[in-house]
Amino acid sequence: LDHYFKQIESHQHLNAFNEVFFYSAAAQAAAVQEKIDQGTAGKLAGMVIGIKDNISYKDHEVTASSKMLEGFVSPYSATVVARLLAEDAIIIGRLNCDEFAMGGSNETSYYGVVKNAADTSRVAGGSSGGSAVAVQADLCLSALGTDTGGSVRQPAAFCGCIGLKPTYGRISRYGVIAYASSFDQVGTITSSVGDAAILLEVLAGADDHDSTVSQREVPDYKAGLSTGGVKKIAVLKETLESEALDPEIKSAILEAIERFKSQGHTVEYVSFDLLDYLVPAYYVLTTAEASSNLSRYDGVHYGHRNTEATNLNDLYKASRAEGFGEEVKRRILLGTFVLSAGYYDAYYQKAQQVRRLIREKMEALLVDFDVILSPVTPTPPFKIGENIEDPLVMYMADIFTVLASLTGIPAIAIPLGNNKEGLPLSLQLMAKHFKEQELLSLSHTFL
Ligand code: GLN
Repeated sequence: LDHYFKQIESHQHLNAFNEVFFYSAAAQAAAVQEKIDQGTAGKLAGMVIGIKDNISYKDHEVTASSKMLEGFVSPYSATVVARLLAEDAIIIGRLNCDEFAMGGSNETSYYGVVKNAADTSRVAGGSSGGSAVAVQADLCLSALGTDTGGSVRQPAAFCGCIGLKPTYGRISRYGVIAYASSFDQVGTITSSVGDAAILLEVLAGADDHDSTVSQREVPDYKAGLSTGGVKKIAVLKETLESEALDPEIKSAILEAIERFKSQGHTVEYVSFDLLDYLVPAYYVLTTAEASSNLSRYDGVHYGHRNTEATNLNDLYKASRAEGFGEEVKRRILLGTFVLSAGYYDAYYQKAQQVRRLIREKMEALLVDFDVILSPVTPTPPFKIGENIEDPLVMYMADIFTVLASLTGIPAIAIPLGNNKEGLPLSLQLMAKHFKEQELLSLSHTFL
């Protein structure tokens, strides 16, 4: 813990932490040490972990990096936090992220942009940018993020870490600040596949507080790491042919494909012709869900409240106008529009139909293959400020990650070394629902 405190101190310029829990982490470390001495410590004893600032921890502030929730102290812990604590992990602090997890560069945070440790003029990725940089720069051993459309995988890719988004419903969302509830999933950012496996084992499994969590048994992921065997891998042809794809990422992926083959796996190129519909469907559905989820921040029940309003309506309006940032407002407006009576059929319902089509197509592919391979991101980490003025450019950068989110399947981002400028490159693997084990063991033997 002392090591990480020192690291955090000397890396403040990265802006990864919204708050370091000096006192509670030190108290926990002392208690865990005692348990270790008595031989009663849990599975994660000694794992120093950071949590994204949209995950509740009893008696600690949680803000979703928004002015709206500044100063809000959570009265209870998220299930994932309770499970970490029960296994004696030490929670070192809450990590910066895009406001309400909306973004792909960590530039929409009320607490400022997070810088990539590989090149501080570049973004860390988002929305779990703080989580990725904290692991990248050794400010904690591992971190929790949330992934609605790529927010664990994309920053992990930009920071050279391993980012796992489990199957929708594998991990409880209780106590996690909602963005788009039919997409949101907690995920892990780690520097080894082994850590991802142990963490998933602790975090996954049924929870009375969240009815969308699967009752399925949780495998011993760690034990299964080296029992992978030969896999049938499908490469989504259109993703590698995409004009948007950076040539260095492409050649790193082509090399990786050769390596998979040399390890005995079969690799086949398959066509996925719905690529153009992924980003539009994702943004119609997630903004719709967000507009509904964020209606609770009304200046009355939670968070920021305007002090000048003289009637209820003005209080709502002023509190929301002051509390939310620009990107969050854009999404609430867009989501409200696509759900409005005159446009519901044309946008929201249509997007749901498209989502089902995409899901069916992916499920059909996964009958014949164990694993699907694609890039995580079209480009290496871009410059801070480069894309922030153009939301459409920013949204298009999610093209490869939203596929697993729309379909609910598990996906992992794994590092492929650096490009000539020293920027991390990466690869994405996806599998059937609840087959995280395949992703973990394949990544483990590959790396
Ligand atoms: N960049 C995507 C978005 O802005 C993903 C965010 C996320 O997964 N939370 O919606």
